[in-house]
Amino acid sequence: MMPSMMDVLPNGEETGDFFAVDIGGTNFRVILVSLSEKRGEVARFEMEEFAIPEEYFSCHADRLFDLLADSLVTFAKRYGFSGNRTAPVGFCFSFPVDQTAVDAGTMIKLTKKFDNEGFVGSDPVQMLQRAILRFKAPFKVVALLNDSVGTLAGACYEDPNAKVGVILGTGTNACYVEQVANIATLAKGSTKRQTMVVNTEWGNFTAASLPITEVDREMDETTPNAGEYHFEKMVSGMYMGEVARRIILRLAEEAQLFGPSVPDELRVEWALSTPAMSKIVEDGSWTLSRTAQILAETLHLPPSRCTYSACSTVKAVCLMVSRRSAALVAACLAGLLCHIGRDGSNGAMQETTVAIDGGLFEHFDAYREFLSEYMEQMLGPEVAAKVQLKRIRDASSMGSAYLAAAVTASSE
Ligand code: ADP
Ligand code: MG
Repeated sequence: MMPSMMDVLPNGEETGDFFAVDIGGTNFRVILVSLSEKRGEVARFEMEEFAIPEEYFSCHADRLFDLLADSLVTFAKRYGFSGNRTAPVGFCFSFPVDQTAVDAGTMIKLTKKFDNEGFVGSDPVQMLQRAILRFKAPFKVVALLNDSVGTLAGACYEDPNAKVGVILGTGTNACYVEQVANIATLAKGSTKRQTMVVNTEWGNFTAASLPITEVDREMDETTPNAGEYHFEKMVSGMYMGEVARRIILRLAEEAQLFGPSVPDELRVEWALSTPAMSKIVEDGSWTLSRTAQILAETLHLPPSRCTYSACSTVKAVCLMVSRRSAALVAACLAGLLCHIGRDGSNGAMQETTVAIDGGLFEHFDAYREFLSEYMEQMLGPEVAAKVQLKRIRDASSMGSAYLAAAVTASSE
């Protein structure tokens, strides 16, 4: 867990034009929000989203930052931003960073698919600011945060009960509002305020009680960050499909799931994506024809090998991997709520909002149900009823712009 240095959160009173750049694991976004005088009102919201081109996962960091700066500058021009005065930018950078100020930090390591040189040890704010200067553009990066912090900030703008931010996308992370007095690693005098957002970096959580399986370990060895981020690899969108594929392959090898021979296509690493896996989980057809279709499309298994019995085993595996993820997230979330006294254990339970963003949570309907089900099991129905798992689309990007606004307002 690391202090995020964010000791202000937006409250809806911010005004002006703010930009954000948001880079996660799969996509990046640039956004513009105009916050009006009316409390909590967004007068204007513009966003552009791009898939990160494959080459940028391994190029030098400078090139990736040039891409971000170029996109921001082009975007601002397209939406008629004149550039007469310097515009504040919130930078949502979803990698582990040792944050030293709201607008400074040192990159600790790369995660997810990224394997670039020039990142680790550098300050992402300076790198982005330098790239912006190369375009001679009038932007100042005023806030550095990760997507979980952005999501919490996005929720705070209109909901004072928002205390926890969670990402369930390519990767996973969570942050929460902590009493400054409880943050032992924070240097004395770092803030005059009472509370600060703590970044749990729970993707890297590991413990003897975390039930890591042989399949998890085998997959881990093929990732750029082997040996780390075990929780993320059991939970998030980048990995779940691959975990399921490996189990299915083992069943084909050891229990002849698809007949006497093992289809070669099943051996292709990362061939089963989490979105495809989620469609199998949600296959409600009597004959599991959708599952057979997905196996044909993604793993190129001929229909003759996808018997009903094979499909139903495949579905059971995908369901198990999905439920495991939801149960682990619920357990950590319940732990976090307990830590901040919002688990009903100390008197009346206050309404609490857990703001959640990310493609896994947004697009996988059954997953949201599993998560609610496990939250109820962990907290009991009465307490769980007071915990709202709020899906906030684009929250991390919006929240980054709001935070740029809150930081600007607090320094004026
Ligand atoms: P990022 O993490 O880059 O910000 P997103 O929040 O958009 O990106 O999340 C993308 C991830 O969401 C993908 O890696 C994918 O695994 C997952 N995802 C997208 N659609 C679905 C779906 N229908 N079912 C399950 N997972 C999905
Ligand atoms: Mg994201």
